[in-house]
Amino acid sequence: MDYAFSKRLQELPPYLFLEIDKAKRKARQEGRDIIDLGVGDPDLPTPQFVIEALNKAANDPANHRYALDQGMPILRQAIAKWYARRFNVQLEPDTEVLPLIGSKEGIAHFPLAFINPGEYSLVPDPCYPPYKGGTIFADGKVHLMPLLEKNGFRPDLDKIPAAKLKKAKVLYLNYPNNPTGATCDLEFYCKAVDFCRKNNLILLSDLAYSEMAYDGYKPQSVFEVDGAKDVAIEFHSLSKTYNMTGWRVGWACGNKSLVAGLAKVKSNLDSGIFSAIQVAATAALEADDSHIRKMCQIYQERRDCLVSGLKALGWKTQNPKATFYVWVKTPRGKSSIDCAAEILEKANLVATPGVGFGKYGEGYIRFALTVKVEKIKEAIERLKKFR
Ligand SMILES: *Cc1c(COP(=O)(O)O)cnc(C)c1O
Repeated sequence: MDYAFSKRLQELPPYLFLEIDKAKRKARQEGRDIIDLGVGDPDLPTPQFVIEALNKAANDPANHRYALDQGMPILRQAIAKWYARRFNVQLEPDTEVLPLIGSKEGIAHFPLAFINPGEYSLVPDPCYPPYKGGTIFADGKVHLMPLLEKNGFRPDLDKIPAAKLKKAKVLYLNYPNNPTGATCDLEFYCKAVDFCRKNNLILLSDLAYSEMAYDGYKPQSVFEVDGAKDVAIEFHSLSKTYNMTGWRVGWACGNKSLVAGLAKVKSNLDSGIFSAIQVAATAALEADDSHIRKMCQIYQERRDCLVSGLKALGWKTQNPKATFYVWVKTPRGKSSIDCAAEILEKANLVATPGVGFGKYGEGYIRFALTVKVEKIKEAIERLKKFR
């Protein structure tokens, strides 16, 4: 018996990484020496002190039982202190902070709390896929806001059609941005907050890459804008900041009612985060910044190596001030899927086709800085043969 998927599931955007995934598996099976710049998953290990905190907490039977839905008070307090230290933003730990099983979980569930069937979310394109997926699971509709190079990969809010805007509920922003590596300043956040206030929208800010920045640049939180808490919820994660993608821990914070809505959805879907992981996450957030500084140094060296190498080959790319992604125009107007397939075939290099992040990602490929500098040098050497 073959069961048909629900309409909701059928409506999800197609998974366009399929072909490249298949080709990558095949290349590996053939024993080819692949350099994988495709996946946005840190190759560096979780800091040792975090692992030790987990070990200790895992040995305490008090941590073996169901965790509190709303997260442990020590973790919520550590998150509030981290925000105060990092952004000079005050959060009330009991009502304005909600730990998550990774921020993807919270981002994908958020529309269930606030979008009614047929209402719109305003989603940047290209983007992190759960913005669209979460909206569709809530029977909402997606309006795409193109991220164009000429606008610094920021959406042009004034171009959203009035009819859509009237039915819109949530505006998604993600800076520093995956996949383009673009950043935004406080002025843009100010404009977005005003826009949301005027149009009765929720601003959802995805700040997963706030700590991965270079050349002295410090990304900002939307809550550095006065009054942003009236309209916004912000998501952060330990995944990229502390090399903890597999641990599944992040959080949402901001407007009380937005946090409460997401908490209510979650209390019906999950039963909290393993307490030992919450204790370890607390240790990570309470530590000084030496781990983050070291991590950024490593990525910065890789970025410099890849960007200068690509530019020397005549590829068109920007030098990202943040994230571990380099967003590159495909040479000679090749389609992103053809380009990714060809560099895999001819250079044994994996990159992600831009169109996998949405139709406005067409014409670009994304390299992730998740291999050592020596491998990046080798990748450039191989690209020299790619003509
Ligand atoms: C990696 C990433 C996240 C973090 O996801 P987790 O579920 O916390 O691991 C969130 N947003 C974007 C844009 C990302 O690239």
